[in-house]
Order: sequence, then structure tokens, then C-alpha cells
Amino acid sequence: MLNEVLRALQSEEIVSGGELARTMGVTRAAVWKQVTLLRERGFNIETVGRQGYHLISCPDLLMEPLIEHDLGTVWAGQRVICYDSVDSTNRVLKKLASEGAEHGTLVLADEQTGGRGRRGRGWLTPKGTSIAMSLLLRPDMHPSRVPILSLGTSVAIAKGINAVTGLPVRIKWPNDIICNGKKLCGILLEMDANEEHVEYVVAGAGINVHLTEIPEEIQATATSLDIECGRPVSRIEIIRAVLRAAEETEQMIREGRLMETYLALSATLGRPVSVQGVRESFTGIAESIREDGTLAVRTDAGELREVMAGDVSVRGLMGYV
Ligand code: ATP
Repeated sequence: MLNEVLRALQSEEIVSGGELARTMGVTRAAVWKQVTLLRERGFNIETVGRQGYHLISCPDLLMEPLIEHDLGTVWAGQRVICYDSVDSTNRVLKKLASEGAEHGTLVLADEQTGGRGRRGRGWLTPKGTSIAMSLLLRPDMHPSRVPILSLGTSVAIAKGINAVTGLPVRIKWPNDIICNGKKLCGILLEMDANEEHVEYVVAGAGINVHLTEIPEEIQATATSLDIECGRPVSRIEIIRAVLRAAEETEQMIREGRLMETYLALSATLGRPVSVQGVRESFTGIAESIREDGTLAVRTDAGELREVMAGDVSVRGLMGYV
């Protein structure tokens, strides 16, 4: 009911409480109660005349109507589901996907208690500070091509962040979004596929937004949008921009022109890097990145070695990037 009242307030300049009560089939007092709840959550709603309401401003809360209003996408975020706290948005969305959720379904959470990175590592999403988002993709492509979706997701997020903030974000191979040498966002794709057919791909991302006190264990490598911009950045605007960028990125992949954009945003290409695998590490120059997500590194001994995203971490020789 709260969402329904909010949607009504978003759709018109002035909403009559009486009319809204009639269309919703509830009493005026019930509508007033919802307006009070919204005000308590930080919505600025003016009372106009005797029983009219006018929405002046919205807080940066993850609520479905705030994402959906005038979004302008065809598939990305056409269904949005927000949670206060989940273990992992990827896990929640995988379950919805197995129950038949549609291409473009978006799951958001204000807090993740068990967020994961690559190779089972943890991803921190303290309450209210970040965006934990997972977008469901049902691509019509061979499973062997799925790695390009991982590159595409990083392009969509980099473009979305740049559109809202103007920050010079770059992509650290394979798909971390960084700004001024520190990590703003991590991405984890998971898929359900057989040899021939992709059932679904869940593209998950954790974006640091209002994280102004960086937890100690990631202090050396992490940053947030508020820190980089020096002002509060709207999570809602970032999510909406990322959804729009996801549709543009899908188009780029379909037309075979994603790589030029990915490579232009790469913070790794052409740089001296240290490749850290489970069994061995080596250094060299990042020479090329292919559509299948592999990174080719020219080692100091002159040999060209290809590494895959699932197997190694890459660091800059002078620091994180
Ligand atoms: P790396 O960033 O170490 O090169 P990676 O790309 O494999 O490696 P991911 O698996 O994407 O990293 O993310 C997990 C790592 O990210 C964790 O080990 C932790 O160091 C770091 N991390 C966890 N939470 C955050 C956060 N909110 N912001 C930035 N970094 C984080």
C-alpha cells in the first residue's frame, strides 16, 4: 500500500487524498497514515488545500517506485524487487530465475550479510551505504560467449556512474570499477547453462555509494562515490542510469562493438601488472584483452601468457591498479 500511495504521488502534481482513497478502495485515514509513514521515512510531502498532497522530494531509499518512475527502459528493471536485508542478491535472484522470472528482473538490497566476490571471497555491503544489485539476463547466446556479458556489465556500470557523477571511472580487468586507483564496485556473474543453452545469467554488482568510513580490511583498496564526489550521490539515480546503460550495452554486444568501449575504459591494458594465481605469480605488461574475457600478459621474459578471470588476481606493479 505504501508503494501504491507513493506511485500516485509521483504520477501527479497534486493528489487528492479523497480520490486516492476511492481508487484504492480504502478510507482517507488509511491514505493519510501511509503519507505519514512516507514522511517519517524522509519524503517531503506538502499538504495542499484541504486534502491534497504534493510530493516535493524523495530520500535515497531503495523502493520500487523510485526506481521505476519514468525509467524509460524496455526490459532492464521492468520488474524491481527491493529487500531490506538479504544474504546475497545473486542468490535471491537465482531462485527467482529458477521459478521463471523474466529477463531484466532486478533485485536490490539495502544490506547484504553474505555478499560474495570472485573465488568465494567476501563483499562488504553495510546497511544503507551501498547498492547491492542483481539483474537477470536470459541471453540468446551460446554458453561459451557468456564471458562477454561480464565485460558488458562492467561497461554498463562504468557508463551509469559516469552519466550521474561525471567521475573518470575505469575498469580494472576483468570487471572491477575503479576511480583514482581504488575500487568502487565489484561484479560477479553466475549462470545456469548446459552445453548448448544458457538458461539464465545473474549479473550482480556491489557499488560503494555512501560508504564514507571504509572498513579497515579494505581501506587500502576501496573508495566510494560520496568520497570521490565530495557530496552525497543518489543510489536511485545510479541504479536508473545503470539500467539504461545495460540496454545500450546489450545493443553494443549484439552489434559486435562492445570491445572498443571496454578497452577504452580499461585501466589494465598496456600497464605493467602482477598476476597472482593460486600456485604461482608473475609480472609483465597487459597486452590484450579478448571478448572471451582472457587477458594476455607479455612476461618480463618475453613470453605471452593468457590468464582467465576465474583463476587469478591482477594488481598494478605500483599499487592496486
Ligand atoms: P582484487 O580486487 O583483490 O584484485 P578480485 O577482483 O578478485 O580481486 P572480487 O572477488 O571482485 O575481487 O572482490 C572481493 C574482494 O574485494 C575482497 O577480497 C575484498 O578485499 C574486496 N572488497 C570487499 N568488499 C568490498 C567493498 N565494499 N569495496 C571494495 N572492495 C571490497
